Amino acid sequence: MSTLADNLLTIGASIKEYAECYQRKTKDIQLLAVSKHHSVQKIEEAFNLGQTSFGENYVQELLEKARQLSHLDLEWHFIGPLQSNKTKMIAETVDWVHTIDRLKIAERLNRQRPENLDAINVCIQVNISNEASKSGVLASDVEALATEIEKLPQLKLRGLMAIPAPQTDFNKQRKEFSKLALLKQGLNIKGFKLDTLSMGMSADSEAAIAEGATIIRIGTRIFGARE
Ligand SMILES: *Cc1c(COP(=O)(O)O)cnc(C)c1O
Repeated sequence: MSTLADNLLTIGASIKEYAECYQRKTKDIQLLAVSKHHSVQKIEEAFNLGQTSFGENYVQELLEKARQLSHLDLEWHFIGPLQSNKTKMIAETVDWVHTIDRLKIAERLNRQRPENLDAINVCIQVNISNEASKSGVLASDVEALATEIEKLPQLKLRGLMAIPAPQTDFNKQRKEFSKLALLKQGLNIKGFKLDTLSMGMSADSEAAIAEGATIIRIGTRIFGARE
C-alpha cells in the first residue's frame, strides 16, 4: 500500500476513534485534505482513494491545480488569506471559503460568484487566541459581520473557522477550540443557522473533534511534510 493510502486509512480510523471517544458521529466530521505545496499527482491519487475535498492556501496554486484537475469532481476549499484583487477567480472556482475576515471580501465574492453556480459556502475566520499578528476577526466583531454576510444571496454562511496559537498541551488546545464552539453556539441561539466549525490540523485534531469540529483541515498527516 502507498504511504498516502496508508495515511488516509489511519486518519479515517482516528476520526472514528475520536468520534466514539467524544460522543460524536463520524459522519459529522469531514476530513479536508490540505494539499498546499503538494503535487496534482498526489491530489489525484488521494481522490482515487476516495478523498473528495481539498484545501489550498494560495490563490495561484489553487487555480492552477483546479485547472489541471478539472476532469475530476473535486470540492475545493480556499483556506488562506484572501486579498480583494484575487476574489474573482476564487468566486468562479471554489465551493468553500473558510477565511472571510471582512465584509469587503464577502461582498466581492457575492458579486463575482457566477449566477449558474450554487452559493459559496463560507466561514468567518476568528482570531480566537487574540493574537496581534493573526488574521481573523475578533470574537466581539463576529456577530456584526455574520449579520451582513447573511444578506448576501450568493454566499451561504456555514460557520466559523480558527487557527489557534500552537499549543502542545491537549487541554490548552481544547480550551481554544471550546471558545470557537461557544461563539458558534451563541450565534445559533440568536437565530443564525450555523452548522460548521472548521478547526483542527494535524497536530491538534483530537482536541478539535473533542470540542465539536465538523471540518478538520489536515495536511501533513495525509501528504507528509511540505517542501
Ligand atoms: C497548512 C494548513 C493546514 C494543514 O496543516 P497541517 O499541520 O499540515 O495539517 C490547515 N489549515 C490551514 C489554514 C493551513 O494553512
